Amino acid sequence: MARKVSKRTATRLAVTNNRAVFHVEGKMSTFGGPNDSGLTPSEGLALFNKSDLSDPKFSYLFLPAPPPGTTGLGRRLNPDSLYIACRWDYHQTSKDFLRNTLALIQNPQNKKNAQARPVDWGPNLSTGRVADLSPGLAAVLGLDTDDDVIIALSDGSSTQAPIATDAGGGHGSANPIPKPTIKQFIQSPNHSSRNGAKISMVVLHCTEASLASTIKTFQDPGGRQVSAHYVIDRNGDIYQMVRDDDRANHCKGANANSIGIEHVASAKDAMADAQKNSSAALIRWLLAQYEISRSSIYGHAFTPGYSGGGTSCPDKLFGPDHTEQAVLDWVAQNV
Ligand SMILES: [Zn+2]
Repeated sequence: MARKVSKRTATRLAVTNNRAVFHVEGKMSTFGGPNDSGLTPSEGLALFNKSDLSDPKFSYLFLPAPPPGTTGLGRRLNPDSLYIACRWDYHQTSKDFLRNTLALIQNPQNKKNAQARPVDWGPNLSTGRVADLSPGLAAVLGLDTDDDVIIALSDGSSTQAPIATDAGGGHGSANPIPKPTIKQFIQSPNHSSRNGAKISMVVLHCTEASLASTIKTFQDPGGRQVSAHYVIDRNGDIYQMVRDDDRANHCKGANANSIGIEHVASAKDAMADAQKNSSAALIRWLLAQYEISRSSIYGHAFTPGYSGGGTSCPDKLFGPDHTEQAVLDWVAQNV
């Protein structure tokens, strides 16, 4: 079913304040992953090698084990992660710069944007195409092979370029509330399909851990396999790790129809002011975007359907007491 795109929430491909170091427009295709028979079983990547598999910053790009019969990193790419190949000019943008930045990709038809990590050089000039995208990136942007794309890199794009992976939303009507800027989309492998469940709740969490350790845990496919849609740092920076359309593993028993928001804090911290402002702005957008009622915002332990057997989360984020009332009062005052 075609999605209607809201002009208001579609963001421009803005790289303001940053110097553009790469810009290309043209046709795209997809590449990488176990099913890409266009790659040989041993084919590698121009920008990554096997030593990157154990780096938590990059491991999300790859499947936990090589697909049977393959040895190269090309087929081991996780097709759901967001990556891209272009014919980069290494004199203009070094390999090291490319590995550590994110390109901004736009579908000019629907104005959807997403950030993705450069992983390879290509496609061959003879294809007539300018870029190869991961199948997951193509899906996020609503692109099919030989559709047009715009790709931009700026010298500050790894930290400053805005993204809006859910720009336009899937819900037809225009959302009058803008989505707060997402500092970075860092894909967590720990997600699954909502199986048609409608988003009807927002669940608020306390990380009881640092930002870095939270992101590392959420990127680990082999540990507790937990995740959340959003992680809000104490300075107000919002990171997205699971697309809203997908089910994250944040509140056992209530994941299918909820959005999970983590707040970086220790078990005894209240929410920081900047963090509170970002959280409230994000919640307001979510309520409007998915037509969620204000009474459907919960602290983890108090969520209807929660079957995890008790948790101290959300701790003291909302006041000195770990109570449902503290969360309700906070929502009444801030959202
Ligand atoms: Zn929690």
